[in-house]
Amino acid sequence: MASNNQNKPPVLSNNITKASPSSNKKLGVDEVTCDKEQKFGAEKMVGTANNARIRQAFSVVNGIQDLGLSSNPASNAGSECGTIEFTREDVEALLSEKMRYKNKFNYKERCENMMDYIKRLRLCIKWFQELEGDYAFEHERLRNALELSEQKCAEMELALRNKEEELNLIIVELRKSFASLQEKLAKEESDKLAALDSLAREKETRLNMERSHASLSEDLGKAQEELQSANQRIASINDMYKLLQEYNSSLQHYNTKLQKDIDAAHESIKRGEKEKSAIVENLSTLRGQYKSLQEQLSTYKASQDEAMRQKDALVHEVASMRVELQQVRDDRDHQLSQVQALTAEVIKHKELAVSSEDLEARCASQSNQIRSLSDQLAAAEEKLEVSDLSALETKTEFEGQKKLINELRNHLEDAEYKLIEGEKLRKRLHNTILELKGNIRVFCRVRPLLPDDSSGSEGKLISYPTTTEALGRGIDIMQNGQKHSFSFDRVFMPDESQEDVFVEISQLVQSALDGYKVCIFAYGQTGSGKTYTMMGKPGHPDLKGLIPRSLEQIFQTRQSLLSQGWKYEMQVSMLEIYNETIRDLLSTNRDASRLENACNGKQYAIKHDASGNTHVTDLTVVDVCSTKEVSYLLDRAAHSRSVGKTQMNEQSSRSHFVFTLRISGLNESTEQQVQGILNLIDLAGSERLSKSGSTGDRLKETQAINKSLSSLSDVIFALAKKEKKEDHVPFRNSKLTYLLQPCLGGDSKTLMFVNISPEASSVGESLCSLRFAARVNACEIGTPRRQTSMRSSESRLSLG
Ligand code: ADP
Ligand code: MG
Repeated sequence: MASNNQNKPPVLSNNITKASPSSNKKLGVDEVTCDKEQKFGAEKMVGTANNARIRQAFSVVNGIQDLGLSSNPASNAGSECGTIEFTREDVEALLSEKMRYKNKFNYKERCENMMDYIKRLRLCIKWFQELEGDYAFEHERLRNALELSEQKCAEMELALRNKEEELNLIIVELRKSFASLQEKLAKEESDKLAALDSLAREKETRLNMERSHASLSEDLGKAQEELQSANQRIASINDMYKLLQEYNSSLQHYNTKLQKDIDAAHESIKRGEKEKSAIVENLSTLRGQYKSLQEQLSTYKASQDEAMRQKDALVHEVASMRVELQQVRDDRDHQLSQVQALTAEVIKHKELAVSSEDLEARCASQSNQIRSLSDQLAAAEEKLEVSDLSALETKTEFEGQKKLINELRNHLEDAEYKLIEGEKLRKRLHNTILELKGNIRVFCRVRPLLPDDSSGSEGKLISYPTTTEALGRGIDIMQNGQKHSFSFDRVFMPDESQEDVFVEISQLVQSALDGYKVCIFAYGQTGSGKTYTMMGKPGHPDLKGLIPRSLEQIFQTRQSLLSQGWKYEMQVSMLEIYNETIRDLLSTNRDASRLENACNGKQYAIKHDASGNTHVTDLTVVDVCSTKEVSYLLDRAAHSRSVGKTQMNEQSSRSHFVFTLRISGLNESTEQQVQGILNLIDLAGSERLSKSGSTGDRLKETQAINKSLSSLSDVIFALAKKEKKEDHVPFRNSKLTYLLQPCLGGDSKTLMFVNISPEASSVGESLCSLRFAARVNACEIGTPRRQTSMRSSESRLSLG
């Protein structure tokens, strides 16, 4: 497209210049149209180079008038385009043509002329129309061309602008570079100036240098010359020096030789002088010696004579002296031996002197002692006499006392025997009292306020009467300003310790060893202290509860009964009753057993045999022989319960915990046999949930608890009535009562703890618990049969 547009204009211009009929003939259809365009293009340029051709075309139209002017026939023009062409002059000539007639009235001619004229006008109009169409077409084409060229122009302008921008950028860059270059140039110029300066300076210095160099070279030449001469001089001097050195060394040699000679000469002179002086000295001394020797000689001669005489005398003397010396020697030896003996004696004497001093001192002290002793002796003798007398007295007294002691001992033995008998009697009486008290007794225990408890006026809500009759047995509770009084076999106040509580039940525990069936229940709302009473506080050995204390006592008693021939075997089992289902707390394989339990309803089934023994199928029963083992089992059970607690929505307070200790004793000497059972039961919380609040599992749970607790009370009440031979006992109404059946009736012993919380918010529940306990308490005590049996036992007492 772009190339076509670019190429078109030159082609057009070419065709315009080349326009000729011959060349046009050779062109194809496209060229023909192009030719038309050329003509119109040419038409616009009226009165230019194509005038000749236009005239030719008009002559064809004008026909007759212009024939002389045309050289080409009209058919030529027609064959060219099929239309006749007009020029402005032709048209104007045509329009301004005047009809000239030879005969004004020759209408025919006029008509023909008019017709002809009209024809030509038509032709002219037709041509004009065509021309107009061509113009319009041409106009259109030109407009398109204009648009195209405008587009091109716009593009070109865009390109131009881009170019301009680019160029501007380039210019900016170039300017920048120009500026930097100018800067550089300036710098360079300054550098150049500096360099020129330095160059000039250098040139100057160089000139100076050159000058100085020249002068120096002159100097150098002179110096070199001088050097050469000097060198020559040096060489000659060196030669001289060598010669002189040689001469010098030879002189030195000579000198040393001469020196040596001088030294030697000096030495010989010295020696000679020394010898001379020595000789002179010798001479003088020799002279002196000679004189003295001569004098000596004379004296010697005289003394020799005298000495001869003396010698004779001395020989005599020596002989006598020798004799004397011998004597003296003998004396000396003798005296030496004497001296030795004497020194030994002296030493002995010295020792003796010391010991004699000691002895004297001792002697003095001993004499003193002797004196005092003799005094004492005298006194002692006196005393002895006196004491002899008193000894006799005391002897008699002692014998008397001995008798007395023997008598007392006999008394004591008697008393001890009586005491043992009395203790036995007391036990029997205690047992009897327990029996008299009833087989079901009730203890009430109020726990202290705990730091977590809501504080209030609870201290005033529960009070304990202090009358002698009710002391330790009565309890008063206030509700809504109304006082409710209860009395039980024993009321434990908050400050009474676990030990205090245990003391009260230890006899009951003892009964289990004696072969009784014993049940101890803890009844009360959750949080009232049931578990505390039964088990104690975990991790606090001082606060341990009835179960560990009972076991300790049983094991202690078992040990002491060993000497009497009693051998005991003990078995422990622990279970939990939750929603009327039994859970084995000692099972090591709980999940599996639970699964089996689910598919086999016979597991943990309670069975009583004819001899009154209870058996729970598949329940873990562990033989124990020490408290350690039992405490281990209790821990295991507590753990098992606490696991259940988290898994089963606090089941521990919603389930009954039953600890069972089976005791079987055998006395091999007497062949006596006992079978006791101790059941310690931590009951489920007795609180009633509000009816609206309990739904689903909670409701079921509560119903199960209520059912089992009410069936327990039913059993107790029925038992009381049964004592009066009235009723059937509904043991089978709950798992708990059925399990404990043998331990609840007959000659079994039952104790119920009713635990009370001192919180104000628990008053309602506490009152319920106390009412229940009071009913249990009342149902046994004061029955006529008991009273009669008490009388009989009283008579037994007075008899025993
Ligand atoms: P229950 O078993 O009846 O739900 P707990 O035995 O668990 O109640 O006792 C609730 C709380 O009260 C425990 O923290 C326990 O240690 C405490 N408690 C109960 N009785 C006493 C008591 N006599 N002396 C001190 N604290 C006690
Ligand atoms: Mg509890």
